[in-house]
Amino acid sequence: MAFLTHFPVSPIHHHSSSLITRFFISPKPKTHLIFATLSSSSTIKPSSSLSILQDITLPEETPLQISQEKLFIPPDTDISSETPPRILKGSNIVLSKYARDAQVISAEFVKSSVETEACPSDGSPEFALVGRSNVGKSSLLNAIVRRKKLALTSKKPGKTQCINHFRINDSWYLVDLPGYGYASAPNELRKDWNKFTKDYFLNRSTLVSVFLLIDASIPAKKIDLEYASWLGQNQVPMTIIFTKCDKRKKKKNGGKHPEENVQDFQDLISEYFEAVPPWIMTSSVTNQGRDEILLHISQLRNYWLKH
Ligand code: GDP
Repeated sequence: MAFLTHFPVSPIHHHSSSLITRFFISPKPKTHLIFATLSSSSTIKPSSSLSILQDITLPEETPLQISQEKLFIPPDTDISSETPPRILKGSNIVLSKYARDAQVISAEFVKSSVETEACPSDGSPEFALVGRSNVGKSSLLNAIVRRKKLALTSKKPGKTQCINHFRINDSWYLVDLPGYGYASAPNELRKDWNKFTKDYFLNRSTLVSVFLLIDASIPAKKIDLEYASWLGQNQVPMTIIFTKCDKRKKKKNGGKHPEENVQDFQDLISEYFEAVPPWIMTSSVTNQGRDEILLHISQLRNYWLKH
């Protein structure tokens, strides 16, 4: 498989607070890659058996064909060897040697903060969930930690506009950020929200990656594209989490399947990124993508802790 022997692996230059910053340089020359035009020899199928991950059973799902240029290769990962890269199912993420300890053993709500400076200061790595209201953020958070109501904590009155920290396995954080795009929110509140979360994105030194949640059951919304663009242009490390991928029914009036919306969204944001950001398809109903998110988190986290 010749394409594997010449796969370019870029050197990573970063400091610990911006693990994958170098992937997001803007403005970027548009990538001239059209999936359909690639020959079959340059597509890679997601791995179906991951021998090093015996503690996790990966769910079956639709096989995706991904061109090698559209893969997310974690730092320190050489895929130029003879072995084909192992790709997490329903994602473009290559598995690296840093993927381990991907189980959630404990999860507890720690605190709600109204500003970045008030967030926990123990230096543990964190991953922040953000998305349009109703995108499925609470459902996903609950699914990740396998606790039906943990995310309710951050839906309590007074906390929806806060930075909510959940401590996982007493070693890292999942962070629930306020949803955006409430149609009814007054302008003043929207402005505050922008200032508040943007400050967190730009100044939180332990933030390893923002998880931008995008509803894959509907076409891309302008506000989501604006958000992705802002994160890309500010070089904030980002993973796109496509939600509600179980909603497969095509609506009569031009509705699309989740896979099509996922592809469209990537095409629409490609101009903001020098290299494609990592993405994962998920469903809180079927638990699709849950283990893949945890593996992705584990490899980013373990790399971050080492550097
Ligand atoms: P949040 O406002 O972003 O926290 O969204 P919620 O988690 O409260 O979910 C909003 C709505 O979407 C609820 O009616 C959920 O039942 C539904 N929902 C969330 N995740 C999924 C999913 O993966 N699949 C489907 N079919 N519905 C979902």
